Amino acid sequence: MPGLANAVTSGWVQNKPKLKVLGRAFTQLHVGAKETVFSAHADLLCSRSNFFKERLQPSRKTVEGDCAICLVKMDPIKDDITYCTSCGQNFHGKCMTQWLGNNNTTCTTCRAVWVGKPSHSQLKCADLDADSFELYIQWLYNDQLSICQDEHDANWIFQLLQAHIAGDTLGDIEFQKAILAELIEHHMTRRSYPGETYVQHVYENTSGPCTLRRFLVDMYVYGVRELSEDKMPVQFLLDLSKALLKYRPADRPDINIALADYIKSDDNDT
Ligand SMILES: [Zn+2]
Ligand SMILES: [Zn+2]
Repeated sequence: MPGLANAVTSGWVQNKPKLKVLGRAFTQLHVGAKETVFSAHADLLCSRSNFFKERLQPSRKTVEGDCAICLVKMDPIKDDITYCTSCGQNFHGKCMTQWLGNNNTTCTTCRAVWVGKPSHSQLKCADLDADSFELYIQWLYNDQLSICQDEHDANWIFQLLQAHIAGDTLGDIEFQKAILAELIEHHMTRRSYPGETYVQHVYENTSGPCTLRRFLVDMYVYGVRELSEDKMPVQFLLDLSKALLKYRPADRPDINIALADYIKSDDNDT
């Protein structure tokens, strides 16, 4: 995959720092079995991850269009935006403060008694892996995965795999793409391919067809030349066989020539 290797080494992986939706509200998260504590901007988590959106701001509408009070466009990056927890409508924070200061107590859109977004919330995420979540937070704020990582450390690769699997729970495809970019760079720059422990890890920790499994199959279809089939998960071998059937080269021998071999007369063998 020379094209891909070039793309990777020429900086495809390095994301430019992105402007982020932060907001002013923080969420304290208790992650994993040991309830490791993290703190992060609620709006940032919700703008990137479906997992957090569903848990922290389920009714909230996407921030777009004009504020229903001042009719000026809302910018989720620059403006402080609040929302009604009943109807999910967004407003400029300052506009809503002014509206409530004028002895109003209800949402201007749905007329329910105003309950705005909490300035602080807490969430238990027992099913998330704390190491993966730490990587996720690092990526959310810094747009990078490998800060202070020894790229030669084999554990780093397993941490990336684990984080990709956690990405399914987090519901953040961009995070998973960043991990895959890191894995691709690792393999392409070293010309090393995933071994059996790696494949076993992925197949044991995923329950069905997924991007990570497809990625491993493609590594074997296009890159790997040898295979210790006795050490590979049976499902991986099936997936690989299917992929090879699909991807076999177009210039393969004609089937008539291949089959003619079976019925060729011995007399012709001179
Ligand atoms: Zn406004
Ligand atoms: Zn409302």
